[in-house]
Amino acid sequence: MTDSQKFPGPIQGIGGILKGVWTVFLQGFKPKVTRQVPEEKLEYPTRTTGRVFLNVDTCIGCTLCDQICPNGTIRMVDFHHDKKQEFEKKYPNKRETYPSVDVSTCIHCNLCEEICPTGAITLEPEVDEVHFIRKNTRYTPEQLGKKEAELWGEERQ
Ligand code: SF4
Ligand code: SF4
Repeated sequence: MTDSQKFPGPIQGIGGILKGVWTVFLQGFKPKVTRQVPEEKLEYPTRTTGRVFLNVDTCIGCTLCDQICPNGTIRMVDFHHDKKQEFEKKYPNKRETYPSVDVSTCIHCNLCEEICPTGAITLEPEVDEVHFIRKNTRYTPEQLGKKEAELWGEERQ
C-alpha cells in the first residue's frame, strides 16, 4: 500500500465530508422514528404486564399480594377508604390496610395479580412511569387507581 492510499489527500477528505452532509440531509426526509414520550403515547399489546393498578373498592386487605411479591415492591399501608355500600358488603376491608407499590422496583412478574382473590390488583399495559422526585415512585393505594398522565399533572403542581 502506497503512502497516498494510507493517507487520503484533501480532495478525498472533502469528498468524505460532502458524503456525510448528504447522508444527514437525506435523513431529514425520512419518517421520524422517535416519539416524545411521555407526552406522545406509545401503543402496547394488551398482554403487556405494565404498571400495577389497584381497585380500592374491591381490595379486602388480605395481604396475599404483599406476601407473594418477590422483592418487597408491595407493602401494606394503613389507608382509610369509604366504600360504596355495594362494595362494603361484598368486599369488606376491616383493617383498612391496602397495598402500596414502588413502581421503580416492580419486575412485572404478575404474581400479585395471579394470587389476588378479588381481582383488585392488576397489571395494565401502562409503562411510562416518569418521576422527577425519587421518593414519588412508591404509589399510595389511591395513586394506584390513577393513570400516569393524571399523576404527572399532580407531581408538576
Ligand atoms: S408484578 Fe411482581 S414485583 Fe411487581 S408488584 Fe406484583 S408481585 Fe411485586
Ligand atoms: S390487592 Fe388483592 S391480594 Fe392484595 S390485599 Fe387486596 S385483595 Fe388481597
